[in-house]
Amino acid sequence: MKSIIILGDGMADEPIEALGGKTPLQYAETPYMDKLAELGVTGRMKTVADGFHPGSEVANMAVLGYDLPTVYEGRGVLEAASIGYDLKPGEMAMRCNLICIEGDILKNHSSGHITTEEADELIHFLNERLGSERVHFYTGVSYRHLLVIKGGDKRLDCTPPHDVPLHPFRPLMIKPEVPEAQETADLLNDLILKSQEILMSHPINRKRIAAGKDPANSIWPWSPGYRPAMRTMQEMYGFKNGTVISAVDLIRGIGVYAGLKVIDVEGATGLYNTNYEGKAQAALEALKTNDFVYLHVEASDEAGHEGDVALKIKTIENLDKRAIRIIWEELQKWDEPVAIAVLPDHPTPCAIRTHTNTPVPFLIYKPGQTPDAVTRFDEFSVLNGKYGILEKDEFIKELI
Ligand SMILES: [Zn+2]
Repeated sequence: MKSIIILGDGMADEPIEALGGKTPLQYAETPYMDKLAELGVTGRMKTVADGFHPGSEVANMAVLGYDLPTVYEGRGVLEAASIGYDLKPGEMAMRCNLICIEGDILKNHSSGHITTEEADELIHFLNERLGSERVHFYTGVSYRHLLVIKGGDKRLDCTPPHDVPLHPFRPLMIKPEVPEAQETADLLNDLILKSQEILMSHPINRKRIAAGKDPANSIWPWSPGYRPAMRTMQEMYGFKNGTVISAVDLIRGIGVYAGLKVIDVEGATGLYNTNYEGKAQAALEALKTNDFVYLHVEASDEAGHEGDVALKIKTIENLDKRAIRIIWEELQKWDEPVAIAVLPDHPTPCAIRTHTNTPVPFLIYKPGQTPDAVTRFDEFSVLNGKYGILEKDEFIKELI
């Protein structure tokens, strides 16, 4: 049977007093998720493997059935795949932020959210001046870029710059975790300091400063990794072809390694104003010719990070009415049965504004199956579902 996963990023939450002790998912009006839960089977899934941080890349790889300790290589390699860079054996990829420093202080991780156009010029300039046979920079999006080091040793202690705003940067520079990685750490720290020397007076930065904006006056590489040993989903589950629809680089990169076709949808922004209807239509179109579709919607995670409860409820209701409804109603007209799963990747509770590793609720609807007793889709209703807590590839194998 063909199948589609509809993933609401960060949709799960905790009970909130202002909602009478309900979670946003309990409080929101979600007739279509509830109908699918009523007709389908439900449970919870542990999406964050022990010892891993609850990042979206970790949780989404787990939803697709990947064993994190075996395949996880950090964000850099996923973003590399997303911008079309095919990482070779022997190459190390790192996320390379363009950051803003002020004196010895790391002012922010994003250079005031520099535009991709400006950043692209700086990345080209960095390649001209600091690039070599071993060192190459690639343009990504806004402040998020890629650094590839041939023969780099990934056993490095790096600091994500968004974790340390307004800290002195020097004590946070890269340290080797083993003596063999000393050479790579030295090379990278040298690149950081040289980038500061040459970026300071670049015309792009002069213009930004004159306009009262933060200059992008340092690189900050982190999250080193090698090409992940990910088998494709076709190899793992035996289907012919699949597609991923997401506005988020990391998820698109996972899709590349998973052997899925990555589709662009006009107006898919990763924010509240995303084109829900367009994504739903693209998913339906893909299902006509694909065995598997992964539809990822980011908006509820952003609302959770902002701690905005009303907005989070709205994003959940939008997902229900403007994506799930369209998919459900259209699939009713098809002769061919299609299995539908709905779940978040991890909770992003509004109260703490960051991800947690609490197991998430899921539902699986397959035409003709015997439903369990659950008639609503939320964190607590599914406790009475058919499944307890699924781990590793148990969820995806139930679906496919
Ligand atoms: Zn996420």
